Amino acid sequence: SSTLEIKDLHVDIEGEKILKGVNLTVKGGEFHAVMGPNGTGKSTLASAIMGHPKYEVTQGEVLLDGENVLEMEIDERAKAGLFLAMQYPSEVSGVTTSDFLRSSINAHREEGDEISLMKFIKEMDDAMDYLEMDKNMSQRYLNEGFSGGEKKRNEILQLMMLKPQIAILDEIDSGLDIDALKIVSKGINKLRNDSFGCLIITHYQRLLDYITPDKVHVMMQGRIVKTGGPELAKRLEAEGYDWVKEELGIED
Ligand code: ADP
Ligand code: MG
Ligand code: MG
Repeated sequence: SSTLEIKDLHVDIEGEKILKGVNLTVKGGEFHAVMGPNGTGKSTLASAIMGHPKYEVTQGEVLLDGENVLEMEIDERAKAGLFLAMQYPSEVSGVTTSDFLRSSINAHREEGDEISLMKFIKEMDDAMDYLEMDKNMSQRYLNEGFSGGEKKRNEILQLMMLKPQIAILDEIDSGLDIDALKIVSKGINKLRNDSFGCLIITHYQRLLDYITPDKVHVMMQGRIVKTGGPELAKRLEAEGYDWVKEELGIED
């Protein structure tokens, strides 16, 4: 199992300081939730770890099993076992969902050890059944014309098939109706095992009714300002974020 360590991470976007010293460690077997008001840097954290060019790391480090993630090429990060589900997945014209998935899986394997087409189709069919997805989706261009809910399910399909060591899921619950939310949660819960760690970024607590996190972190103004257990998420849902600000003396 793997460990992702985020140490004193500072990130700028276009010269503006967005993350101001984030510390967070996710180990295999652990589910962590990051919650917080809009605009506090949650998506920035996810994008910076995955190497989005707009995000400039000015200080700190991100280590995967001691290896410097920030020095890896983007595809090496995925190869090393990191997976990111984006808040706004992009559309890829001309590449079917199925082809995309198969080449992603093979990109993580050694030459000569590629997944056979039959095995791939069987695994994809099983995962799509599990996620109650329409099989036709696999032949459509990736995310093109997908509804919000279809995009999110598709991200979980990728997650189930790629089986990363550590996944970062950014607002995987946004725009989902309650049935889709349950299915997406079912997919994530199925992956729970000692060698899978997950960082779940969410603005709302409702996802955490279905996926119980081991730890809940509150992000405000570019830092993790508070950490607790699942009860912290419940309190945030009931009372909002003002009490955290008061407790810590944070001004808007
Ligand atoms: P959250 O995910 O917590 O809602 P974000 O990480 O998306 O917050 O945004 C944090 C801050 O960075 C916000 O003030 C936002 O306006 C700014 N920001 C995010 N993305 C960009 C961007 N691509 N260009 C400029 N500013 C950005
Ligand atoms: Mg946001
Ligand atoms: Mg966000």
